[in-house]
Parts: sequence; structure tokens; C-alpha cells
Amino acid sequence: MAHEVTLIPGDGTGPELAEATRRVLEATGVRFEWDRQEAGVDEYEAHGNPFPDATLDSLRRTGVGIKGPTTTPVGSGFRSVNVLLRKELDLFACIRPCKAYEGVRTRFPETDIVIVRENTEDLYAGIEFEKGSESNARLRATLEELGEHVRDDAGISVKPISVMGSERIVEEAFRYAEAYGRRKVTAAHKANIMKFSDGLFLEVARQVAERHPDIEFEDRIIDNLCNQLVSRPEEYDVIVLPNLYGDIVSDLGAGLIGGLGLAPGGNIGTEAAVFEATHGSAPKYKGQNRVNPTALMLSGMLMLRHLEEREAADRLEGAIAELIRKGDKVTYDLKPTRDDLSAVGTSEFADAVIAQMGG
Ligand code: NAD
Repeated sequence: MAHEVTLIPGDGTGPELAEATRRVLEATGVRFEWDRQEAGVDEYEAHGNPFPDATLDSLRRTGVGIKGPTTTPVGSGFRSVNVLLRKELDLFACIRPCKAYEGVRTRFPETDIVIVRENTEDLYAGIEFEKGSESNARLRATLEELGEHVRDDAGISVKPISVMGSERIVEEAFRYAEAYGRRKVTAAHKANIMKFSDGLFLEVARQVAERHPDIEFEDRIIDNLCNQLVSRPEEYDVIVLPNLYGDIVSDLGAGLIGGLGLAPGGNIGTEAAVFEATHGSAPKYKGQNRVNPTALMLSGMLMLRHLEEREAADRLEGAIAELIRKGDKVTYDLKPTRDDLSAVGTSEFADAVIAQMGG
């Protein structure tokens, strides 16, 4: 039976990455029925809405999507498609494995961590009060009544962290650890300073950990974690974090394993899962058939696992890992210098993955 999957090419370099990924996924032999849907700036420019209802309806119906990156223009009032998507479908967990494949140039070849980022709360929830606005003035007045003074020329972002949100993300981290044979979960926070938000996250994490005695549990203050990740990444395994720290540490993890072109991800919710790379739309490379599709292909590999197609997932990952190990048919970012003329393009990398799988 074919798996029906919503395919969102996105914008910038998204469509070329999505096409390369669709081809390698089909070459695994798993059958897909793609429901292609639009999102992003191109869709906004064409029809005035970056995130059409049809795209959301499709995801609600299929329950599984793979998405190319989408651009969020800075300071335009344009809401991020990714933030909307996570909110609308309650995709509460972002799972980002960061594994250093042999052959990649990295100072941290031992890295094999999985970042589990909370996706719906924290400073990312979008509860914001613009400097000079009426709502900002009312909020500051309420804070003043409560004995807290905020300067009148301040913009304000609110950081909500709940018991429910913390519990389900930490449970997801332990569920992942158990499903994929991982040994330890580390919870990252700044509970020493933000006692009622990060402190609550830590308290809940400790309670959840007690329900999973077979998996080791520890916590780290976020700044210390960053320091340790760039000195001893091999000591870490699954790391669970509130939204903002998770966002930042995801890029740190991508750096540890050799770059954004290699870091995949999956957004998991109760009703749907959407798989996408950690990186953005890299618009300056749009249409050049140049960027590395590995991150989106590995996101496709995570999707195969999610669809219980584990053998196909292993074969796809194995083929990508082998190409990276050999190092000849890879994109510019995996070459010793960025102007290496032997680098292949996005679609040629897909051809090489397909050939490696014996397709
Ligand atoms: P970016 O990840 O798009 O690109 C930063 C740089 O990383 C690129 O210039 C390129 O040098 C490198 N890079 C990224 N992906 C690569 C790949 N596949 N292969 C090789 N090199 C790669 O980050 P940005 O420039 O900060 O963001 C561009 C846009 O993407 C912004 O509008 C941002 O909001 C958006 N964004 C979208 C997503 C998403 O859709 N999930 C995620 C992050 C950023």
C-alpha cells in the first residue's frame, strides 16, 4: 500500500531540495502518493497567503508531511510558516538527530546526539508586546501594580512554560531514547535564574525521569551545556530543551556534525508529523542546483522510520553515509574548499544516492 504524504516544496532552495529528496525516497522502493501543497514567500506573492488552508487541510488528512524550508522576511509582520504549522497542528516535539558521519570535516567526529526541542511554548510562543503600543502600556501598568518596573521604551516578549508542555516533551525524549536504544537523557535549562519557567521545566523533567528508571537522567544549565558540547560532545546522548534553547542548540549541533547541510529534523504531534531540515531556505543559492540535500533526505529517512519503513530508512541512511565517506560525489559544502570544482550539484547528489542504493 502506498503511503499518502503531503509534500511541501517551500521556497528559496526548497523546491530543488524537495525534488532531490522525493526522488531518493521513491528509489528506496517504498510507494508514496504525494499530495503536493504550497507554502512560503512565493505562495504569498502569488496569492497573498504564505500558508494556505489547503496545505493545512492536506496535513490534517494525511497525518504526515515532508517540507522544504520557507523564508520568513525580517520585520515585515509576516508570520513564520513554521511557527504557524507547529501551532495549528500542535507539533509539540522537534526531534533533531546530530550525528557526525565518517568523512565529514569536523573537529567533533564522536558526536551522536539527538536534540528534542519543545515546539509550542517559551519565548517562541509569539506573545509579544510592541514598544509604544497600547497593549504594551497596559501590560507595563499591570506589572507596575505588581511591583515590577519595565522601562517605557521596552518591547516585551513573554516566556510561558507549562507543566503539560514540559511533561509531554520530556516524555517524548524518553520515548525516543527507549525506541532507539539510547542510554541517557539530559534536560537543559536556566532554572537558577528563571525559576518559575525553566525551574518548572526542570522540576517536571525530574518527575518524568522517575518513570523511566532504565534510562539515565541528568540536567545541565544551558550555558554550561553549550560549553561542554563544544569540548566533550561524546558525553551527550538525548538532550531535551525548551523551545528557544532548543532552536539555538540545534544549530550548534549542526555545526558539530559538519554544517547545516547535514542536519535533519522531524516535528512530531499527536495528529501529524512534518519532517524538515534544520536549515533555512538559503535564498542566495536559489535555482543554482548547488546546495546540499542531505539534511532534507535524512529528514525523509526519519519519515520512513516514522512510517515503520525501517529497512528502507536504514538503506537510505547507509547510502548517504557511504557517499559522504567516499567524498567525491558530494556538494561544495562537504569539499575541503568551497570552490572545489569536483563538487556535484543537488540533483547529481540525488543521482549518486540512488546509484549507491542500487537503483
Ligand atoms: P539558512 O539556513 O537558510 O542559510 C544560512 C547559510 O547556511 C546559507 O547561506 C548556506 O551557506 C548554508 N546552508 C544552509 N542550508 C544549506 C544546504 N542545504 N547546503 C549547503 N549550505 C547550506 O539560514 P538563514 O540565511 O538565516 O535563513 C534564510 C531564511 O530561511 C530566513 O528567512 C529564515 O527565516 C528561514 N528559515 C526557515 C527554516 C525552515 O523553513 N524550517 C529554518 C530556518 C530558517
